[in-house]
Amino acid sequence: MSKEIPYKIYLEENEIPKAWYNLRADMKNKPAPLLSPETLKPMSAKELAPVFCDELISQELDENTAYFPIPQDILDFYKMYRPAPLIRAYCLEKQLDTPAKIYYKFEGNNTSGSHKLNSAIVQAYYAKKQGLKGVTTETGAGQWGTALSMACSYLGLDCKVYMVKVSYEQKPFRREVMRTYGASVTPSPSTETEIGRKILEAHPGTGGSLGCAISEAVEKATKTEGYRYVLGSVLNQVMLHQSVIGLESKIALDKYGIKPDIIIGCAGGGSNLGGLIAPFMGEKIRGEADYRIIAVEPKSCPSFTRGKYAYDYCDTGMVCPLAKMYTLGSNFIPAPNHAGGLRYHGMNSTLSQLYADGLMEAVSVEQTSVFAAAEQFARIEGILPAPESSHAIKVAIDEAVKCKETGEEKTILFGLTGTGYFDMMSYEKFHDGKMFDYTPTDEELQASFETLPKLDIK
Ligand SMILES: *Cc1c(COP(=O)(O)O)cnc(C)c1O
Repeated sequence: MSKEIPYKIYLEENEIPKAWYNLRADMKNKPAPLLSPETLKPMSAKELAPVFCDELISQELDENTAYFPIPQDILDFYKMYRPAPLIRAYCLEKQLDTPAKIYYKFEGNNTSGSHKLNSAIVQAYYAKKQGLKGVTTETGAGQWGTALSMACSYLGLDCKVYMVKVSYEQKPFRREVMRTYGASVTPSPSTETEIGRKILEAHPGTGGSLGCAISEAVEKATKTEGYRYVLGSVLNQVMLHQSVIGLESKIALDKYGIKPDIIIGCAGGGSNLGGLIAPFMGEKIRGEADYRIIAVEPKSCPSFTRGKYAYDYCDTGMVCPLAKMYTLGSNFIPAPNHAGGLRYHGMNSTLSQLYADGLMEAVSVEQTSVFAAAEQFARIEGILPAPESSHAIKVAIDEAVKCKETGEEKTILFGLTGTGYFDMMSYEKFHDGKMFDYTPTDEELQASFETLPKLDIK
């Protein structure tokens, strides 16, 4: 085992990134703007103001400023759990008997158990700075809700979370973590909002969905004085905040003169992947370096690999702006046996544009193969990975195995977004042989595409 490169590469405090990087500034083809669901014109800051915090709106709309300085208060908060370690998977390499070098950036080192805290603290900070009383949001499995509760309790903000009802019932522990941090958690759809009542009337007994919880959270924010809505993924502001993942990774690799050949990340709404690849993709676009970049998504929710690149609603209730993205249709809900997360119907608009321009690849994988990779990784590298993260592990292992076959000494970097302690019901299904793969048929997807808004725009 070569020891020249440490098992974990840490950054010194003076090496920590002091600004977020906005990849859009370097893109030749900018992502398409958000459209108003009423006028179908690009959303202005003024139109977004009732929903989102002012400072976050200006970040969302800014496609020219390359670097946004990170406020000192946020740098101080980041110090509690950052820099995140960049780890060389020596043990996994040895087990795979591959000439490939595998590195992973581990974001599970905080109580929320994922990278989501990187953006939660920023969004809560700007809400506080604006003098707001609180924020509303949705959460699926609960990672984002947990991260936001932590950020809000730190800053003394109120936090109202609409949690997809099936998860609320099946994941009571996440719910209690959020309540430990002082958040109020409501199962969605609820009778608290107009849209919730409407959905309940149309689909009595529904377990809810992310798109539906988003609509409820937005309605609550816009109808409550001193509240705004915040979102844990999909938006470009979130990708901006998550660029700390990629910036730290790049600084750590540069320190040892390491250049990754392949960069791999799991893709739900696209925020961790977008953050991880940002500085590398910037170099690629500017022609300074080349990297193979791979997004990994579930076969049961394949927005990149089988979705349409079109304007679509971000939520079920159609109250949010429309985004041009790879989408399965805002009514798409993955099969009930889907256990691995990454279930959002659309994809961040910046990543969508990069994918459309051929600057990155995407693959989809079956959930049983994802859990097999998760288990293999847990046993050899010690960390119990989140199912979402394990999509990236699966493809990193596949690529390393290919290197064994070809004898190529490629360097692979992947994002290990979090830990899976709250996903033990899914692991249990896998261990008991009760986990099944489901791939939607073309007909099912077509039925969902029929619901895409028919806009008279390019
Ligand atoms: C939320 C989450 C993801 C997916 O979200 P992205 O916005 O696509 O990054 C991936 N991994 C973990 C652990 C998560 O909590």
